[in-house]
Amino acid sequence: ASTWANVPQGPPDAILGITEAFKADTASHKINLGVGAYRDNEGKPFVLNTVREAEKRVVGKKLDKEYAPITGLANFYTAAAELAYGSNSAPIKENRLAVSQTISGTGALRVGAEFLAKFLPSKKILLPTPSWANHKAVFSAAGLEVGQYRYYDKSTISLDFDGLKADLEQAAPGTAVLLHACAHNPTGVDPTKEQWQAIFNVVKERQLFPLFDMAYQGFASGDCDRDAYAVRYFVDNGLPVALNQSFAKNMGLYGERIGAFSIVCESPEEKARVDSQLKIIVRPLYSNPPIHGARIAAEILNDAQLKQQWLGEVKSMADRMIEMRSLLREKLENLGSKKDWSHVTSQIGMFCYTGLSPEQVDRLASEFSVYGTRDGRISICGINASNVDHLAKAIFAVSG
Ligand code: PMP
Repeated sequence: ASTWANVPQGPPDAILGITEAFKADTASHKINLGVGAYRDNEGKPFVLNTVREAEKRVVGKKLDKEYAPITGLANFYTAAAELAYGSNSAPIKENRLAVSQTISGTGALRVGAEFLAKFLPSKKILLPTPSWANHKAVFSAAGLEVGQYRYYDKSTISLDFDGLKADLEQAAPGTAVLLHACAHNPTGVDPTKEQWQAIFNVVKERQLFPLFDMAYQGFASGDCDRDAYAVRYFVDNGLPVALNQSFAKNMGLYGERIGAFSIVCESPEEKARVDSQLKIIVRPLYSNPPIHGARIAAEILNDAQLKQQWLGEVKSMADRMIEMRSLLREKLENLGSKKDWSHVTSQIGMFCYTGLSPEQVDRLASEFSVYGTRDGRISICGINASNVDHLAKAIFAVSG
């Protein structure tokens, strides 16, 4: 018998499975709202002009292809940290931020998870319900115990703030809490500034450890500083955090796998110890990160003019999504839907949690060739001026 005769068939990845079904559909009006990748108004993948320009400059330099250091390119991760924490951030100025380039946001989460599994005595992390599906997989794979805190209220299609607070107030001191910094995936529901301040107070009082996931900086409001509000509020008010960053969405560098993981430390001496452990974690995982995406991102972030232009491109992507939200809501209302669709425009970022049931999502696919995830999440990026009418009709038909 084969050595692998007893290997069981695993389930397909929920989101990639949707893309398969979409590809197999022959309808010309089919729409894929499953995957979280930005599309332009023609429904095409989009490469930013600033990325094209940076790439041209990088190639023009005829750099070598030597290995990066274990924690990546310093001119990338330094600039990445400044984008997140702000250029006046105390931990950066005081040389007490441990930071490493990572294999995009997922790699950042995994490096962070391994660090927590080794050094956080509780070995426990709480995730919002719901959260990006891969969160649980990543933290469990690193050996952490994964629990939940309430986040989303189905009945109001909004934040379950009381539930969230109550659950964090119950958490044992020393427990890590994963917080989506902005543009919560999958719900598109973010806390307000006042709610973030209240969350900060609970985290501080209960002595929980805040781990931020910021995969969408700039994608929520169109403004990278505004989207960093929660992270900066926590840090500026004296709570050490850890942070996962991804440049997949805001630079459109999905396949380049470029991100960063950082930990705010108490002193340069502590930072040095943490840095040494990050290297010990990364070395046997993948030795060192890829260089091309890091060079592109560094070129953009370190050139004042290119950076300004890039911030404008981020805003235009965010604006297009905000516009598609309005258009979708308007079309649903114009069709005569009696349902309240205000959540379509009040939610933020790449995703909309429509409130549709799994059965209604199944009907969207089978009757209208519209593909989303069965939790009712649709990717706003997949909507454009040419398909929004069909989408609105389909949602109206299945939801009444
Ligand atoms: N965190 C969240 C919440 C996400 O939605 C994503 C991407 N879907 C990621 C992290 C990581 O993505 P990547 O590894 O492509 O940067």
